[in-house]
Amino acid sequence: MRFLADAMLGKLAEWLRILGYDTLAAEDLSIMDDDYLLDIAEDEGRVLLTKDVELYERAKKEGIEAVLVEGNDVEHQLAFLVKNGYIELREVPSLERCPKCNGPLKKVSKEEVKGLVPMGVYMSHDEFWVCTNCGQIYWKGSHWKRMKEFVERVKGLVEDKSRA
Ligand SMILES: [Zn+2]
Repeated sequence: MRFLADAMLGKLAEWLRILGYDTLAAEDLSIMDDDYLLDIAEDEGRVLLTKDVELYERAKKEGIEAVLVEGNDVEHQLAFLVKNGYIELREVPSLERCPKCNGPLKKVSKEEVKGLVPMGVYMSHDEFWVCTNCGQIYWKGSHWKRMKEFVERVKGLVEDKSRA
């Protein structure tokens, strides 16, 4: 499943990428206009994620798959998508998609990032990934642990609701 997030859901788009989902964000594409947003969803077969009821209804009318996302923070929004069967909570980070730009990530050798990452990071890590689109370099640093904790919280939300 591929997604297109509206301008209010930039943070959600970033998290979908961390989970490995191919997700474009209106924010990054500087899309301000709903017609253009709907065109991209249709042309690329992406599910439109929106918090805008009007836009959601227009998409439905035009036969474009859209989700009216519930939840006021990204944890609840992700839990909503899981509960409705759109995504699964995979191991994070999936290291498939660049959280910044949605470009595919590629694993690179340690030598290739020499001089490109802080020396301390270079010395203490053996695995590196680079975004084939924007060139951003990734490694499993302290943020990696926080990502796992975040996903655990989302899991908690998903389970809570199913008991209620
Ligand atoms: Zn990138």
